[in-house]
Amino acid sequence: MNIQWYPGHMTKTRRMMEENLSLVDVVIELLDARIPYSSKNPDIDTLAKNKRRIIVMNKSDLADPAKTEIWKKYFENKGFTVILSDAVKGTGVNKVSDAARVLMKDKIEKEKARGRLFVPIRAMIVGIPNVGKSTFINKSVGKTTAKTGDKPGVTKGKQWIRLKKDFELLDTPGILWPKFEDEEVGLKLAMIGSINDDILDTETLCTEFINLMMSIDPDRIRNRYKAEFDTIEEPHDILEKIAAARGFIKKGGEPDCGRAAKIILDEFRGGKIGKITLELPEDIRDMSAKTAEKEAEKKARDKERKAAYKAKNK
Ligand code: GDP
Repeated sequence: MNIQWYPGHMTKTRRMMEENLSLVDVVIELLDARIPYSSKNPDIDTLAKNKRRIIVMNKSDLADPAKTEIWKKYFENKGFTVILSDAVKGTGVNKVSDAARVLMKDKIEKEKARGRLFVPIRAMIVGIPNVGKSTFINKSVGKTTAKTGDKPGVTKGKQWIRLKKDFELLDTPGILWPKFEDEEVGLKLAMIGSINDDILDTETLCTEFINLMMSIDPDRIRNRYKAEFDTIEEPHDILEKIAAARGFIKKGGEPDCGRAAKIILDEFRGGKIGKITLELPEDIRDMSAKTAEKEAEKKARDKERKAAYKAKNK
């Protein structure tokens, strides 16, 4: 599932995406409702400039409904049409064609005024890996016809799925890259299981998850794992307490944190700890500020390095 993005690969994906975008009127961008910011492609605003856009907050069955509403308003204030969906159950999936028609109303009317009797709308689904693009397309069609599996960009032979008389969807979704230069984003993507765990070992990832949960909703962790702890305790100590509470003890009598970590992450991903959203719009500023800070540091380092190189080779 994990796509390794490298510069050449990204250039190719971008080119394919641009080619495909030129064929559609509407871009349907899928986000993971648990991490609407972190699951967003950083370049989509540029890529889909001049296109009508719909944001689908998918996996909303796993996200905190109150926070999903906050995010919905946030995107709506930015001028987007927002649809909440659970692609597995199919909730919200059928709203897309109506929303697209509303978005295209002025264009359709213009065309009709010019004498065109029938104005079809063409759309494509885009999003980072694992947000549920294939599931969403399959559900739209009603049976398993859309291809699953990860191919960045879109396949060569373009095919359209006619969902309504006047609404067609490109049969293969556009796979976009995440904000992978942002560490916090990477962590959250790993937490929800969207990228492979191998960037971090499970225990470290779970410790980060516990740390985050202490500011989001510590009681969910307390209640689920029947562990007593203070929110200011070291997250790894909390993990140890959970392991002990669950009776995960290694031979020497030490808590088996690795085993507890795997279970906690699995249960979070499966929605067993509750409906949890890991970020709010108000966190974005912090996150982008941190990223900007890091980028500035990197630039300063590069500059220093270049200057040192120049001085050495004079
Ligand atoms: P893609 O890589 O974007 O095409 O993602 P997939 O369609 O392959 O979905 C990735 C995983 O997320 C699969 O295990 C799906 O069953 C699951 N999934 C997709 N949509 C939803 C949803 O709305 N809710 C839940 N709970 N799981 C979903």
